[in-house]
Amino acid sequence: MAERKVVIVGGGVAGAILAYTLQHQASVTLIDPKEYFEIPWAGLRALVEPSFAERILINHRDYFKKGELVVSSAASISETEVVTQDGTHVAYDYLVIATGHSEPLPKTRAQRLDQYKAGNEKIKSSNSILIVGGGPTGVELAAEIAVDFPEKKVTIVHKGSRLLEYIGTKASRKTLKWLKSKKVDVKLEQSVELDNVNNSAEGNKTYQTSGGETIEADSHFECIGKPVGSAWLRETILKDDLDDEGRIKVDEHLRVKGKTNIFAIGDITDIKEIKQGMFASAQGVLVAKNLKVLIEGSGKEPKLGTYKAQAPMSIVSLGRKHGVAQFPFMTILGRFPGMIKSGDLFVGKKRKELGLAP
Ligand SMILES: Cc1cc2nc3c(=O)[nH]c(=O)nc-3n(C[C@H](O)[C@H](O)[C@H](O)COP(=O)(O)OP(=O)(O)OC[C@H]3O[C@@H](n4cnc5c(N)ncnc54)[C@H](O)[C@@H]3O)c2cc1C
Repeated sequence: MAERKVVIVGGGVAGAILAYTLQHQASVTLIDPKEYFEIPWAGLRALVEPSFAERILINHRDYFKKGELVVSSAASISETEVVTQDGTHVAYDYLVIATGHSEPLPKTRAQRLDQYKAGNEKIKSSNSILIVGGGPTGVELAAEIAVDFPEKKVTIVHKGSRLLEYIGTKASRKTLKWLKSKKVDVKLEQSVELDNVNNSAEGNKTYQTSGGETIEADSHFECIGKPVGSAWLRETILKDDLDDEGRIKVDEHLRVKGKTNIFAIGDITDIKEIKQGMFASAQGVLVAKNLKVLIEGSGKEPKLGTYKAQAPMSIVSLGRKHGVAQFPFMTILGRFPGMIKSGDLFVGKKRKELGLAP
């Protein structure tokens, strides 16, 4: 029998581990707009230390050696194939959607490395930096800068009433206190209109907040959440399988509800849990097993593995040594969560999972 065709759309945390795990068991095609996998949460360290980017940007070909790689965005799907933006038609027996969050990133690893270098130059040449957004990205970036460049003035402006709204209030309070201790100025319940920035005579910029405050800064970083990567599915056979937030409704086997050969994994699913890469990876590994069962199916009813939503858990790094962790029964800030995450940001671990040197 011809090898079964598995198509994975999205080469992020979930899609990459699935492609790596399944490549020798089926005819696998990975579709991603970039030639490389990026460890998403480690990029904030790469902004203060550009050489760190060398380990977090991994060409898909370095871990996915056997299957087909299509470097383009998926634009549409039918019952039998995926069509990409560059007009490639890719037929499938099994389809896995892993398009987490979408953001326009350069196509090549070299271009992305250059972006990190440029971001680092921007930080180094600024005495004052405005960070727009106080979610995990804004907080982790502010902390990286405050720890590595303590002489720089960092301001966070955040629309919400507390930082890190995706986790509990204790974590928000402790983080605010830590940031203040590092002289980071945090302005809550305000936003900044980035289309309306004035360049002052001294060469720096003035930003107006919705609360009527003026902030002077040499540069800014926009750290607002990225959109869920499902806009491309809105006119397809999956249009009725999206919830109000654009997430794909899946069953306990991570199959799109009502479909027998289409799965979804990672941040794109409607599973009720904090969206985390470690959960996205676990889902990728589970779907690799389920696909193996289906592909090797002996004609009997296949026994598929099930996924259970995970307890709310998250660690936000605060520079190189500290972190704030929400575990199911407690929230702590300090060196212990820092020891778990903040030194290497799980980069060595992630690389090993993909069969690479740490
Ligand atoms: C600041 C920050 C810190 C974090 N820290 C941690 C942490 O410590 N631990 C942890 O476990 N998690 C952490 N996370 C969460 C983690 O990054 C996400 O849960 C994880 O990236 C989700 O993986 P994913 O594969 O579902 O989606 P993503 O990683 O978003 O990957 C999606 C992929 O799909 C591709 N794509 C999008 N649209 C298309 C399309 N139309 N066609 C083809 N490809 C497409 C994208 O290019 C990308 O490669 C953090 C997140 C942030 C923002």
